[in-house]
Formats: sequence, C-alpha cells, structure tokens
Amino acid sequence: MALLYTEEQLELIEMVRDMVEREVKPHVAECDRKGECPVELFKPAIDMGLHMLEIPEEYGGEGMDYETTAMIFEEIAKVDAGYADTLVTTFVALRNVILKGTPEQAQYFADVIGQGKFACFAITEAGAGSDAGALRATAVPDGKGNYVLNGTKTFATNGECASLYIAFFKIPDVGITAFMIDRDTPGFSVGAHEDKMGFRLSNTTDLIFEDVVVPEDRIVGTPGKGLSLALNSLNLSRAFISTLGVGIMQRALDEAVAYAKIREQFGKPIIKQQMVQQLLADMAIKVEASRCLVNNTMKLMDQGSLVRKEGSITKTFVTDCMQEVTSNAVQVFGGYGYSREYPVEKLMRDAKIFQIFEGTNQIQRVTIAKCLEKEYE
Ligand SMILES: Cc1cc2nc3c(=O)[nH]c(=O)nc-3n(C[C@H](O)[C@H](O)[C@H](O)COP(=O)(O)OP(=O)(O)OC[C@H]3O[C@@H](n4cnc5c(N)ncnc54)[C@H](O)[C@@H]3O)c2cc1C
Repeated sequence: MALLYTEEQLELIEMVRDMVEREVKPHVAECDRKGECPVELFKPAIDMGLHMLEIPEEYGGEGMDYETTAMIFEEIAKVDAGYADTLVTTFVALRNVILKGTPEQAQYFADVIGQGKFACFAITEAGAGSDAGALRATAVPDGKGNYVLNGTKTFATNGECASLYIAFFKIPDVGITAFMIDRDTPGFSVGAHEDKMGFRLSNTTDLIFEDVVVPEDRIVGTPGKGLSLALNSLNLSRAFISTLGVGIMQRALDEAVAYAKIREQFGKPIIKQQMVQQLLADMAIKVEASRCLVNNTMKLMDQGSLVRKEGSITKTFVTDCMQEVTSNAVQVFGGYGYSREYPVEKLMRDAKIFQIFEGTNQIQRVTIAKCLEKEYE
C-alpha cells in the first residue's frame, strides 16, 4: 500500500482485523438482510475501547491521534461500514461536547459512553436537509430555568440504540441551539425506522420530541450558535466517513482480485484479460489515492486544522470514487456480482449513502467553491 505505517499502527490494525473478522463478519449477511444489528455485537469492540479511541484519556478514552484511529476504522469498515459508523457517530458526538460543552457536560457524556452506550447527533428534519438552518423544532424557555423541546428529527443515525442525543432546536429570538438529551426524558420517543437500500447495520430513525423539558444547563455551546457547532462537527465526521469509504473500496478490490484470479473464461483466469485488468487497475488507483487523501486530512486535524475545505474535498473525492470502485467490483464478478451470494452487491448498496449523508456531494462542492472564493480575495 502507498501509505507508510509505523510498527505500532500495523500491530493495532492487525489486532482489530482479527476481532472484526472473528466476532462481526460471520453475522454481517444476516444483519444486512434483517436491517438491524444487535447491540451485543458491539461488545467486543467496546471491550477493546474502539468507541472512545480518539477521546482524551482524562475522559476515559485512549487518547489516540486521528490518523491512527482512521486506519483502525478503515479496517472495521472492510467488514461492515454501518457497524463502524455506529461507533464513529458516538465518539464524534462526545468529541463535540468535549470541544464545545462545559467540563461537567463532557464528563457526564463521557461517563455514559464509557459504559458502552451509544450517542446520536440529530439536526436533519423533513423540511431541513441540505438547508439545515431551516429547521423548525423549537426550544421555548418556561421561565423556570428549563426549555421545552418540540419537533421531529429525521434520518438520525443511532436513533434507536443511543442513550444520549445531541439535537438542534430554534430558541425564539435567539436562534439554533444544541441540546443534550437523555433517552429516558419524558416526552422523547424514537419514531419510524428507515428501511434502507444499504448501510443496514447502522440504524436510522425519526426522533420525536413532545414537550420534552430539559434544564438550561443541557444547552451545549452558545445559545444561537448551534449551526456553526453542527457544521464544525460535520468536518470531523466527514473525515471519518471518508475513511470508512476507503474500507469499503479496499474490500471491493480485495474481493474482485481474488475472484478474478480463480474465475476462468476463454481458458484462462479473467485477471489475464486486459479489460478486466483495466477495471482492477482503475479500482486500485482510486483506493490508494483516496487513502492518501484521508491520511493527509487526518494529519491536518491532528495539528488542529478545522479542515473545512480539505474535509469537503476528501469526502467528495472518496465517496465519488466509491461508486465506481464498488460498481467495478460487481462488474468483475459478472452475473455472480449481482447475486446476494457474493459480498460485492452489498458493498455497492452500502456505498451510495456516502454521497448523500454528512452533507451531499453537491453541497460539498458549494462549500469548496466558497472556500476558493475567499482564498482568492
Ligand atoms: C442513512 C442516513 C443517515 C443519516 N444520518 C444523519 C444523522 O445522523 N444526523 C442528521 O442530522 N442527519 C442525518 N442524515 C441526513 C442527511 O444528512 C441528509 O439526508 C442530507 O443532508 C441531505 O438532505 P435531504 O435528504 O433532505 O436532501 P435535500 O436537501 O432535499 O437534497 C436533495 C437533492 O438536492 C440537492 N441540493 C439541495 N440543495 C442544493 C444546493 N444548494 N445546491 C446544489 N444541490 C442542492 C442535494 O445535493 C440532493 O441531491 C442521514 C441520512 C441518511 C439517508
């Protein structure tokens, strides 16, 4: 591979690969069919601390750099990206509370996640997707030091399995504000589950808030500044989504090469056919280039950069590549690639969402262009 790894990184990758191959992989096909992933399947990952890898040690995490964390999550995504994203969503939500919340909020959040629980980050609503600022859920002060939350969030990753939620509401005359909500708060409930074409080990649901009363110390960050908190958080999660994308692509390449070496047509393995070679070579080019781009973005984040433009470029490039790479894998398998008996059709289904969530690739291009306009002022 084009990346240079340290001995320590290679050992960690090996250890995680061994765990996911043994504990998770045998269950993936069935979970994909059912569209759910039992929480018990996360126990081995939680026992290894994978849900808090990049969280500082003072909050009970491993304090690992983003670069190494990303390498490990690529490995998990090779087995299943939805499984990996359940953990990513959790530590990104916690990281946001550490960055923008009070030390007490961060400690509370970390204590819950430290017990092996999950978190969810919900801004999207039926009428507010790409235009997240158009959200309509409200937080109204009750005059007794509390806020009353009302509204419905859609497409919330970890909606069902989470114990803690960061969700966004409009305070009248103040603006969009982030709140931290416990699952068992009266008036809160989990709504409909999405029956998705792919990424089916990650649960996606509506969240319903009906007169949910939370004390004002549950506001995360500055009231009215929730949108910028959400956008900064997406910079971080986009980088991790990209590393999961590399995992999906690497798996597609691994499967396609292995199959092309054993499948014979016209008296020789199809890997000897030049047009199949072209499909495989194009896949390898995109996998390696994507991995290098992700690695560079992670290094920038380790140095404290917000990666607004770089994160958008990385997410867009990697997730566009994913469509071609996973489709090529199906092509290399021929008719068998279209069958559920082989793993590549799932990779192609899983890949599509990556161009849509964490801000669609059209919106990423708008962001990149806005950054360019500023840079060239
Ligand atoms: C599986 C899944 C998991 C998700 N997880 C979460 C989560 O955990 N938390 C959360 O808050 N949200 C989550 N989302 C929501 C996701 O971020 C939104 O679906 C996404 O931002 C797009 O919004 P939309 O679906 O409303 O599409 P729309 O905004 O309606 O967009 C429709 C189309 O129009 C294009 N478009 C819209 N505006 C523009 C523009 N200005 N310029 C160019 N093109 C434009 C879009 O690119 C897209 O192609 C998830 C979604 C899915 C499907």
